[in-house]
Amino acid sequence: MDCLFCKIAQGTIPSTKVYEDDRVLAFKDIQPQAPVHLLVIPKKHLATLNDAEPADAELLGHVVLTAQRIAREAGLSESGYRLINNCGSDGGQVVYHVHFHVLGGEKLGPLNI
Ligand code: C5P
Repeated sequence: MDCLFCKIAQGTIPSTKVYEDDRVLAFKDIQPQAPVHLLVIPKKHLATLNDAEPADAELLGHVVLTAQRIAREAGLSESGYRLINNCGSDGGQVVYHVHFHVLGGEKLGPLNI
């Protein structure tokens, strides 16, 4: 499958990993929009959040708890952070493999909708 994040999950395209287990991978965004900008992906290919099914509930829960974990490990627990999923064209999604952005390390402004 010609999917950038599947290739990153498989290690055929390099990334700066911050966490990995059998189901998820977290790595640094290559174009950070904040002092801390990490991405968390399920290794299973889901193009968008719309493709998730009830059977993916546990996996997506693990993705969100991984976001909490890497935010904590980046020192963001007390100050806080933002967790974002861009879904589809109007949501601004560019890479069609579900991912959540973890942003923090400074006071973030309001969402620029
Ligand atoms: O949510 P969206 O699809 O717009 O975000 C994709 C993100 O993937 C961007 O923030 C981009 O910088 C990041 N990216 C990356 N490594 C790549 C390609 C894209 O971190 N090789």
